Amino acid sequence: MNPRRAATIVRRARAALLGGAVGDALGATTEFMKPAQIRERIGVHREITGGGWLNLLPGQVTDDTEMTLCVARGIVQAREWNLAAIADRFAHWLSGGPADVGATCRRGILEYVETRRLATAPNEGDAGNGAAMRVAPVALYTLGDEELLSRLAVEQAHITHHHPLSDAACVSVGTMIQRGLLRTPLAGLRAAAEELAARHPEFRFEGYDGKSSAYVPDTLRTVLDAFFSTGSFEECLVKTVNRGGDADTAGAIAGAIAGARYGLSAIPRRWVNALDAGLREELASLAEQLVRKSPLFDRA
Ligand code: MN
Ligand code: MN
Repeated sequence: MNPRRAATIVRRARAALLGGAVGDALGATTEFMKPAQIRERIGVHREITGGGWLNLLPGQVTDDTEMTLCVARGIVQAREWNLAAIADRFAHWLSGGPADVGATCRRGILEYVETRRLATAPNEGDAGNGAAMRVAPVALYTLGDEELLSRLAVEQAHITHHHPLSDAACVSVGTMIQRGLLRTPLAGLRAAAEELAARHPEFRFEGYDGKSSAYVPDTLRTVLDAFFSTGSFEECLVKTVNRGGDADTAGAIAGAIAGARYGLSAIPRRWVNALDAGLREELASLAEQLVRKSPLFDRA
């Protein structure tokens, strides 16, 4: 690949991971709040201030970013695709007693620790957003091969979540991130969202009702409504997190998609600077290593 194109894609890949972390840190403040409460207490939430139900420091991230790091490190540090390397990092992370962890993630990780099985059984209750929130590194790693993305996005999901709606959301979020990275026109990202809704009408976001919950169709509808009705990274994220509900997770997913689409320079400097410097550097480095391992870079 010519070095200029490679550099552009590396920068966008960094924007996807940094965007996700920024969305998590921004949204954590309004997680579990109702939009009316946000308006009353904050007005429009558009600064990374910490607080929230987890009483975070400004710029602190939560499980969404921590599990994304586990996936990214598990991919980069193993020689080839190795699901156990990811699951082991989840297990190590959980053993450290994270401030927040979703119930389905906890159950799946504990099951892995006990049985070493890398795929949990299909479960009616697994339509939460815990697998979709951490899929971005897989999108970077499989760039240039949407079939491979579909397979690996679902494999990483099944460590903790095994449900057709979660699987479909993971593939769709990953596809949108990849198309953003490749500078596919917006219609290509919309096509991914429309394909998802055609297959699973639960994800239809036209006439969105404003509900942001941890049920993955609600999370994605929140993200898709915000993404397709705004024209910048900042406005997309602000709209997403002011819905409250599962605001940090919706923020993380919106940040990854919008980061890939709008690029590094579109992420407000004040938000990037609010993150821990070590985290910023690690995300930037992981993003580059992930895309350099991808089929797109491999071929060229
Ligand atoms: Mn979280
Ligand atoms: Mn959350």
